[in-house]
Amino acid sequence: MYHCAGCGAVLFKSDGKYESNAPGLVGWPSFSEVAKDGAVELRDDDSFGMHRTEVICKNCGGHLGHLFDDQESKTGKHFCINSCALGFKKQDV
Ligand SMILES: [Zn+2]
Repeated sequence: MYHCAGCGAVLFKSDGKYESNAPGLVGWPSFSEVAKDGAVELRDDDSFGMHRTEVICKNCGGHLGHLFDDQESKTGKHFCINSCALGFKKQDV
């Protein structure tokens, strides 16, 4: 399970993680879905002269990364998350 580094809320699961080959996004943790609905908040981000969708922790408002469309993803969504914003905890299922 991947937790918010700020507040510890569960954000993503390992099985939502995938390898993306999208240009410029290689090496970033990529997720196709959030662990549960409402875990993150999406916000329009027009900084740096381009339009993107910002991904924010619903619980503490911490910046996590950005959301892109990606055909490689099983959901068509690509959550590109800053690894510094996540804590990883192994959890037995
Ligand atoms: Zn948080």
